[in-house]
Amino acid sequence: MEMRPAPKPADPIGTVHLVGAGPGDPELLTLRAARLIAAARLIVHDGLVDPAILAMAPADARLISVAKSRSRHTMPQDAINALLVREALAGNDVVRLKGGDPFVFGRGGEEAEACRAAGVPVAVVPGISAALGAAAAAGIALTHRDAASTVSFVAGQCKGLADQDWTGLAGHGRTLVIYMGLATAAAITDKLIADGLSPAMPVAVIENATRPGMRVLRGVLAGLDRIVADHAVKSPALIVIGEVAARADASELAFIAETVR
Ligand code: SAH
Repeated sequence: MEMRPAPKPADPIGTVHLVGAGPGDPELLTLRAARLIAAARLIVHDGLVDPAILAMAPADARLISVAKSRSRHTMPQDAINALLVREALAGNDVVRLKGGDPFVFGRGGEEAEACRAAGVPVAVVPGISAALGAAAAAGIALTHRDAASTVSFVAGQCKGLADQDWTGLAGHGRTLVIYMGLATAAAITDKLIADGLSPAMPVAVIENATRPGMRVLRGVLAGLDRIVADHAVKSPALIVIGEVAARADASELAFIAETVR
């Protein structure tokens, strides 16, 4: 009888781990994220991921940056999706590291869909989203019982701002947190005031939350774009609008200045 060679097992497909890196401070990683990073062979990361977190990877791990910024797209989303799929199909486990949480304005949904469509297994590791990290670091209780019973997260970037319906998201008893809203601060102010929000509503702008050089700037809605311009606030920054934004006191902020390295 003719001897046939045993069939070769198919190359295993790697898993894509969509991992939230939190707002910056490495101590705000989840244990699972820290474990995956420390064991990674390949990390595909955004620009928002802190260098101190990337330094936790093994020295010989491959690190690929797909950094994005508003004006400079290092790699279009389709190319990122294709890269993840290609590496996984080649048998490599991929740690796809994203700032904050992968499913909060992180385009993790698209990456997960692209992987699943190609038959690549996906695992999602949640992270502390910037709104939660920034609120903690600035001493702003997003739903302080005396000041807010709802909180909303919105994206404030130029594209589509005019079409977004924010009615009812901000106002008395409500907290609105705006991601990616620096460049559109003036348009955001106009939109909210046109919707009936008081120009005197407290606001806080939190730049580099939980990172070195963090700043918390406070004021009122009517002065939002001036805060951003006068203090030359740079990305990444969040805008918090609502009564809770006025509640943190100076002693809390002094404490934060000491704890944020
Ligand atoms: N997936 C991320 C958000 C990505 S969108 C998350 O869950 O946090 C990028 C926006 O997040 C930035 O434009 C900024 O508005 C906000 N952001 C991220 N990190 C931040 C930080 N350390 N401080 C302030 N804002 C931050």
